[in-house]
Amino acid sequence: MSMGMGVDSAALLLRWLLDPRSRDFDLSDLTVLTAMTGDEYTATRMLMEKYLLPVMAQHAVRYVMLARAGQSETAGYEVLSDSHSTSRMIMHGTRWRLSDEQTAAGVVPQQVRHRRFCSYRAKGQVLDWWIADALGGAAYRHVVGFAAEEVRRSSKDTSYTSAARNPWYPLIEWGWDRQSCLAYLQDAFGVTWSRSCCGYCPFQAGPELDLLCQRWRNEPDRAEQALRLEYTAVAINPRSLLFGKKRSARQVAILAGLRDLVEHVDADLAAQPWAIYDVRRAYPARRLDKTKPSGLENRDSYAKGQGARSLEPVCVGTYDSTRATVLAMGGQPEGEHQIVRAWTHRAGPPYPSREAFLVAAPAGVPTKVGPAFPAVWAQAEDTPVAQFRDPWTSHLPLALAA
Ligand code: SF4
Repeated sequence: MSMGMGVDSAALLLRWLLDPRSRDFDLSDLTVLTAMTGDEYTATRMLMEKYLLPVMAQHAVRYVMLARAGQSETAGYEVLSDSHSTSRMIMHGTRWRLSDEQTAAGVVPQQVRHRRFCSYRAKGQVLDWWIADALGGAAYRHVVGFAAEEVRRSSKDTSYTSAARNPWYPLIEWGWDRQSCLAYLQDAFGVTWSRSCCGYCPFQAGPELDLLCQRWRNEPDRAEQALRLEYTAVAINPRSLLFGKKRSARQVAILAGLRDLVEHVDADLAAQPWAIYDVRRAYPARRLDKTKPSGLENRDSYAKGQGARSLEPVCVGTYDSTRATVLAMGGQPEGEHQIVRAWTHRAGPPYPSREAFLVAAPAGVPTKVGPAFPAVWAQAEDTPVAQFRDPWTSHLPLALAA
């Protein structure tokens, strides 16, 4: 069973423990797995330790906690704990946290082609690796706690089924939705179980915005982490507000009454080394029919296709010196974060088109050029990349005076 530690999987597991008629297997056949992102709220740890772990230990349920062991595609995993009497949660690995990955790339968690890439990297891949090692290809039932209203997610999950994996969604069979799960846990433990997620998860500011504000007030270190991630991500991509197009982590923190924290993060970031980044994106026109060749006649020039990015730090300096340099190159402070950017290209429509700017932002994000970038960029305007690069950045010193 994949145990996300949230309302749904906690209710499912608890019912199995308390009501043997709800299951068709012996608990000795059950292995409960959690892959840690390293950035969950402390409240989740406390709920697990105080309420669920004692019942699991009482029934000698095997509980395995895992974490990704590094950044690479083949990094593998660490086993944080593997026990039939777990009394303590280990909420992060020693070698990798999801926030390390986001910080290094200068991004906030995002969906790539309708897939939560962060979740795949921190959880899905890790669980797959462990299961492959532990079961060696033997057939197994994989229990996932999708609630009754998540039939679409379960259908998508079913499409990942392999010959050995037989997915099972008991909550959907029982007709238990989120409310039923919450009520069941409330009844059993006398507490409101909270959603389990990373403190900066972008999917927590919808109908549960009040709860998010409360959680950030209770655990301001999580809000701080979100503010830091968002700042650099927005500098590199102005569309990267943490909670979608209209709501930033900054706005939510202020709404939560954490204005002092926002100012503290701004001041702290301003005191760190800064860099000027050369950021470029290129967008093809979207393909109309994926089954047909990708020629111009099969493209909608008013719809954006899959973009490609190039990011390069071109010099380092201080907050003041990098911003002054970009301002002197025609830049302006933009948006609520007052990020200083100097634009040379704005993306279409029509497409294909280019987007390019220089921006001052906290240092530390390394050069990264997507594999598709050179071709998509060149296609956008028939201009070789080098012709664009030189006039912009060749005269900048590698380090600016303070
Ligand atoms: S909780 Fe949110 S941010 Fe964390 S892995 Fe899942 S989807 Fe990504």
